[in-house]
Amino acid sequence: MAARVPVQVSPPEVAASVRALTRRFGDRTVLDDLDLEIARGEFVALLGRSGSGKSTLLRALAGLDDEVEGGLAVGESVAVAFQEPRLVPWKRVRANVALGLARGDARARAEAALAEVGLTERADAWPLTLSGGEAQRASLARALVREPGLLLLDEPFSALDALTRITMHRLVLELWSAHRPAVLLVTHDVDEALLLADRVLVLDEGRIAHETAISLPRPRHRDHPDLVSLRT
Ligand code: ADP
Ligand code: MG
Repeated sequence: MAARVPVQVSPPEVAASVRALTRRFGDRTVLDDLDLEIARGEFVALLGRSGSGKSTLLRALAGLDDEVEGGLAVGESVAVAFQEPRLVPWKRVRANVALGLARGDARARAEAALAEVGLTERADAWPLTLSGGEAQRASLARALVREPGLLLLDEPFSALDALTRITMHRLVLELWSAHRPAVLLVTHDVDEALLLADRVLVLDEGRIAHETAISLPRPRHRDHPDLVSLRT
């Protein structure tokens, strides 16, 4: 039987700390004694083939999985954005962003977050009328409004067209620079990982199998020779 692991509070310089994390589904071990530390404000990308356990790791970090075994500590509040924005369809965009905020200034905070992601004009819209890119902006606003110390992004751009994805890359870097949450971005896109992250991890066989620190300054151009050599 898996023991329930309470999520601990980590020291202030560490956004998340994972020690010997194991997750089994039946007799299948998806995360196997995994160690990982994310520094405060660090932008980390996580690659790995489908089914390697990336979303399982994110769910554990978000405190959404009470059947993981091992040690898990997160510094501050955690927010998640998924590939599908998961907006509540019967609430307007503004109300979706304000969900769960304390009453008082919820509306003002939601509007500030919507302005930051460039969605002021869609605040009164219904989620189902949004384009894919707009819905993902709303989802980012909903995550940011909580001022998370750790922002977990599970393939947030995979379903977007290539041009929208580029705009979203720029937006995410702007938001990250302005607020400096630690980010753990799951992606299938190696170029996206190299462009955005300080550190790129590869999950394989239940553990972090590879790790590359990116020392290039931002902004990065995808054809920069150092990135080309990292990709090959
Ligand atoms: P990834 O996000 O890397 O594609 P996941 O973390 O979603 O992978 O899944 C990793 C493995 O765990 C997959 O084989 C998946 O089928 C399995 N898995 C995930 N969630 C469950 C669950 N609730 N019950 C059983 N198996 C699961
Ligand atoms: Mg996944």
